[in-house]
Amino acid sequence: MLRYHPLDEQGAITYALKFTDLFPENAQLICRKVGDGNLNLVFQLTDKRSGKSIIMKQARPFARAIGESWPLTLDRARIESQALINHDRICPGLVPKVYHYDRVLALTIMEDLSNHLIMRKGLAARKRYPHFASHIGTFLARTLFMTSDIALPAQTKKKRTVQFMNPEMCKISEDLIFTYPYFDSGENQFNPLIADTVEEIWMNNQLKLEVAKLKDGFLTHAQALIHGDLHTGSIMVTEEDTKVIDPEFTFYGPMGFDIGAVIGNLLLSFASHEGHTPDLGERMNYQEYLLTMIEQIWTCFEKEFRQLWEKEAKERMAVIPGYVDHYLLQVLEDASGYAGCKMIRRIIGLAHVWDLESISDPKLRANGEKLALSVGQKLVLERRQVKEIYDITSRVRQLV
Ligand code: ADP
Ligand code: MG
Ligand code: MG
Ligand code: MG
Repeated sequence: MLRYHPLDEQGAITYALKFTDLFPENAQLICRKVGDGNLNLVFQLTDKRSGKSIIMKQARPFARAIGESWPLTLDRARIESQALINHDRICPGLVPKVYHYDRVLALTIMEDLSNHLIMRKGLAARKRYPHFASHIGTFLARTLFMTSDIALPAQTKKKRTVQFMNPEMCKISEDLIFTYPYFDSGENQFNPLIADTVEEIWMNNQLKLEVAKLKDGFLTHAQALIHGDLHTGSIMVTEEDTKVIDPEFTFYGPMGFDIGAVIGNLLLSFASHEGHTPDLGERMNYQEYLLTMIEQIWTCFEKEFRQLWEKEAKERMAVIPGYVDHYLLQVLEDASGYAGCKMIRRIIGLAHVWDLESISDPKLRANGEKLALSVGQKLVLERRQVKEIYDITSRVRQLV
């Protein structure tokens, strides 16, 4: 039996030919490494004869990106492949198909989406995705509702929380999103031009108290099986199609964390256009497009969630008048708070986003970063005043 070892290009080819029946024996495979390889190795394998290609993703037992090397469980590869299979059942067509999983090598083989673009790159280039809001709204409504206590028998749901227990990956989020950015310690990294704003955040006890409450929700609110890392680098798009990848952070957590990840990352793109789009008219136009997209995402999510609640709820209390309204209001409030936390950590903490990092002029980048910090703080501090999605987008409009 094979023991765990990280594959190289030749190893990936040999594995595909020897341990799967995805390619014929006479296939002429070429292999290309994709991705940064910080946490995982990602290979694209193509048969030169038939043109058929697949993606092979292998987890590594440590992370290189996060300071010094940090041990990480290989079990996340199981969680990722099971989450992809689960998502494909709940939302057919919105995730890559899984073809093969190997527990020992912590390796998943899946559909190649190379004709899609990582969404944050498309957004930086001011591309428009007319179906995205409806696709991601559906993805969120179906994956979150169908794994919740409203849809599943309570015992089934509790067993799922054990199946998808993901403590090591959760710890990364707990530290990097909800803790490190709020202390002046070596665990952060930021543009020296925004040091004053960062120091204000470190001294803002009201903000830190609200972040502590949001962290508590992340730690304790096992509401639904969430993706856990749903930024625009985990979404691959064409004009027609949307696919969600990389659910290795999946666990039972608050629904608002996934919705907030999408909103927060669209707002990081919004802020990045302070640098990417110097023409004011063009910039305002695209930024407004992003805000409308956020409004449409929530509207689609809510509509589909309410339909599911009506048709698929198994929880008897679901019929109580006012319950679904209360539930969704809580999710929206959480989404606002988590969107804010996600924005702040990408500016102050480790692991920045390409949207802003790709602005080479540090002064221009600082403009975008300061805007992101203002928006992020507002979304955290004022989340209880958010009663509809327009309460989020109007706050952003006020800040530019
Ligand atoms: P990580 O968990 O290390 O971030 P990802 O699953 O996000 O790994 O993959 C890293 C990169 O590999 C993605 O940004 C994308 O460019 C590429 N990639 C991953 N999955 C696919 C896929 N199914 N099809 C095409 N490219 C993919
Ligand atoms: Mg990565
Ligand atoms: Mg990942
Ligand atoms: Mg990724």
